[in-house]
Amino acid sequence: MTIHFPFDNSYGRLPARFYTKMPPEPVKAPRLIKVNHALAQELGLDPAALESPEGVAVLAGNAVPEGADPLAQVYAGHQFGGWSPQLGDGRAILLGEVVDRDGQRRDIQLKGSGRTPYSRMGDGRAWLGPVLREYIVSEAMQAYGVPTTRALAAVATGEDVLREAPMPGAVLTRVASSHIRVGTFQFFAARRDVEALEALTTHALARHYPGGETALDLLNGVIARQAELVAQWTGLGFIHGVMNTDNTTISGETIDYGPCAFMDVYSPGKVYSSIDQFGRYAFDKQPDILVWNLAQLATALLPLIDADQDRSIEIATEAVHRFPDLFNAAWLNVFRTKLGLETAEDDDEALILDVLSAMAEAEMDFTNTFRDLSTLPEPVKTRWIDRLKQEGIAPEVQAQRLSQANPAYIPRNHRIEDAIQSAVYGDFDPFERLVSVLERPFDDQPDARDLRRPPMPEEEVRQTFCGT
Ligand code: AMP
Ligand code: MG
Repeated sequence: MTIHFPFDNSYGRLPARFYTKMPPEPVKAPRLIKVNHALAQELGLDPAALESPEGVAVLAGNAVPEGADPLAQVYAGHQFGGWSPQLGDGRAILLGEVVDRDGQRRDIQLKGSGRTPYSRMGDGRAWLGPVLREYIVSEAMQAYGVPTTRALAAVATGEDVLREAPMPGAVLTRVASSHIRVGTFQFFAARRDVEALEALTTHALARHYPGGETALDLLNGVIARQAELVAQWTGLGFIHGVMNTDNTTISGETIDYGPCAFMDVYSPGKVYSSIDQFGRYAFDKQPDILVWNLAQLATALLPLIDADQDRSIEIATEAVHRFPDLFNAAWLNVFRTKLGLETAEDDDEALILDVLSAMAEAEMDFTNTFRDLSTLPEPVKTRWIDRLKQEGIAPEVQAQRLSQANPAYIPRNHRIEDAIQSAVYGDFDPFERLVSVLERPFDDQPDARDLRRPPMPEEEVRQTFCGT
């Protein structure tokens, strides 16, 4: 079965210093784990062809499809606040771009596809755990309506990769509206390569902010989309875990599902990541970290904003200073919707904060509490019910609105771990089940009640790990 990708590779037409052109590294014995049929169709790809031996060979990196222009992208970034002048796709290869059914350009990237010049000490590979985790969580994000990279497929490589122990290797096919990061701009800014910054800005505007013309348009666009994105994470109890500038996209999509987690009990300062010793990327720090990352983008774009450097700094600073208002407006919107409110009142912020602090104090489950708001402790509930009465909406409509705003299902950490453990021993049923239930996270699914249950103390996952 021939597999046809309708490629049109614009990134590969950028100057040679943006990437290293190279094919993925073949693996020993590719075996299909899963193809995302709905996404394949969106991209104009035939799911059956992707599942055929020829398709699986492509998804494993053993065959390069016609029209691909495989390359590893270079970027830089601040990791945990420390500057890394040279990062890049150290375990990923961009096969190319396709224009999807809606006319939207999408990157097709293999992750876990072998060593590149940007691998540093790494082996360029991924093991099954992070691949399944990214598949589950990124597709759940999509189902919540949150901008995100997608998972088109997962394949096993038939090779072991050495982590603490030998683990089964896997490759994820990631789809993104692009893989351009704040760190991509930083890479060229650090080298004072203004020509490259200009080319990248033009490319990024055309892809993500059509109508935008200047570096300032780009900066404003990214600030607005990222503010919206992180507000949406907050409404889901999502902790990204590694909000480095190389993991902050220009498109405004969530990227890099490494040590990420959805909180069970609501605890504002929560940290899961094993490498985040100082809680830099704690749940409630995410807006502050984001604005820090956006300031790095602003800094990188300074040479393009105005010929006069002082003026440039002034303009960029003003743009970044608009972030708190943008974030606050997005956050209010998210939580008003979660509380089933349609109108805006001045004291909504106080009401939302009351609800949240009551939840924190009583150590309530974030997801289930919003889903079943009637379980709120009395004093807070009274205030909320009064506010609902003000809106004068029939209780059935109200109930329906709440269940459309608050998912019943999240990929709970203990369920992800369980799916990974089973898969390591060859049983992919828990993985399949989790993916399938999370396709409709707002629908009550009577035979999936167990997936709503928070972990018992002995099931609780206290730490998550980087996706290496
Ligand atoms: P991340 O923490 O996933 O954002 O990765 C940070 C940097 O480390 C990126 O440049 C990655 O390409 C690189 N990297 C992570 N894991 C590996 C690996 N197994 N092999 C090579 N490079 C890696
Ligand atoms: Mg990354």
